[in-house]
Order: sequence, then C-alpha cells, then structure tokens
Amino acid sequence: MDFSEEQIQRYARHIILSEVGGTGQAKLLESKVLVIGAGGLGSPVLMYLAAAGVGTIGIVDDDQVSLSNLQRQIIHTSGRIGENKTESAAATLAAINPDVSVVRHTLRLNAGNVMDLIADYDVVADGSDNFETRFLVNDACHIGGKTLVSAAILRFDGQLSTFRSHEGDGHPCYRCIFPEAPPPGLIPSCAEGGVLGALAGTMGSMQATEVIKELLGIGESLSGTLLIYDGLATSFRKVRVRPDPACKLCGAQATITDLSAHAA
Ligand code: ZN
Repeated sequence: MDFSEEQIQRYARHIILSEVGGTGQAKLLESKVLVIGAGGLGSPVLMYLAAAGVGTIGIVDDDQVSLSNLQRQIIHTSGRIGENKTESAAATLAAINPDVSVVRHTLRLNAGNVMDLIADYDVVADGSDNFETRFLVNDACHIGGKTLVSAAILRFDGQLSTFRSHEGDGHPCYRCIFPEAPPPGLIPSCAEGGVLGALAGTMGSMQATEVIKELLGIGESLSGTLLIYDGLATSFRKVRVRPDPACKLCGAQATITDLSAHAA
C-alpha cells in the first residue's frame, strides 16, 4: 500500500522500527480489532490502537458515561456524562486519528450476538468488568477461531494473557486457568472493591501492546503465560500456563461445543 505524506509522518516512529516497518504499518492499517468494554482497560486499549493506526476498531459497550467512571476511563470527559460510551469513545478516537474507522456496537454481549460480532475482526481485546462476559468471550473466540487478549484489574492488581486455544498445539484457553466463573459475590467488582485509576492505564497499555504484537506476529506471544502485576509491590510475575487436558472447552473430551450454556 502507498502511504500518504501525512501517514508517513504520523507513523514515522513505527515505520523506523525494524519489527514494524512500512509492511507492518500497512498491516495495522488493514487490521480489525474488537474491543469489549469502553471502560478503564478499554480506554487505553482503544486510544493506543487508534493512535497506532489499526484501521478498523469495533467498540462494544451498552453503558453510558457516569461521573464515577472518569477517575480511570480516560477516553471519556466530564462534558460527555450521560452519553453512550460507544459514542463518547468514538469521538475521542476520531480526534486522535481520522485514519481509523470506528464501528460502534451499543449493545450488551450475549450468546445470541457474540459470534456474528467477532466474525468481522482479526483479534478481540476483552476489557470487560465481569466474569459472565469474560467466559462468554473466551468460549466464543475459541469456537470462532479468534485470538483473544484478555486483561482484568481490581484494587492494585492486574492480570493479562493471550488466548489462542483454537490453534491447539499447546495453547491454553481462559478456562484452562479458571474452569468456571466464581459464584456471584465471592470476588468483588471494582465498584465494590475499588481500583486505582492508573492501574487501568498500566494494564490497558500492555494489553494494547499485546494486541499489536499478535496483529504483526512479532515478539513472544503471551499465549501460555499469565502476567500478574502487583501495583503496590511494583512487581510483575509471569506464570506458565499449560492447556488443561480436562478443559471443558478446549480439552480432548470437551463438553462445551456451542454457547448454549450462556445467557442469550
Ligand atoms: Zn481450555
């Protein structure tokens, strides 16, 4: 593809990286990423992917911007309280990079719509704030053959991993680590337990990095590794994760073959 003069300037710091170059930048411009949740994690993910020139970015969120979001959801502004998060996020992305085409999916993900949604994208980034969605997205990406980069935050702690279980060959899925969603109430939500705003920036920025690595096929994939960040101790741990042969989704005797166990 031929870059315009403006694109050469805009992406100069990428193009000069030998791992990206003009070929990689052109690949990003042709890539499509679906970001689930325009919240704390989704904010930096969306903003960095847009700045990077990821050509098509889908945003899934059914919520509106509220005052208590603004401590960490930096894609939204005080003036946009009450607006749909998809609209507010799309406005910020358009202001960052008009090269990017933004697709707003103002809906709640469920078993009935998730397969059609992910079908249009190369990579899915999950920044949702609840286990129901996280399991649904994991199952859908495995069945639909999509690479999933998934992050989670609570209080001062974050987790990040990449799932490519659809490729088989030693790649675990989210259920290989967490077989079932915990019973409601066992693990507090961010609303109940709190979360440091800047932690969303740390984890979301790393999530964006992993998405770009998967799109370009560069570096070491985080598939098979769970990254755990302790913000208070300022420590990162990488835990090796192997596929669970008894996994209900990706194991040899898998019993989850469709999304019928999830709410429609
Ligand atoms: Zn699995």
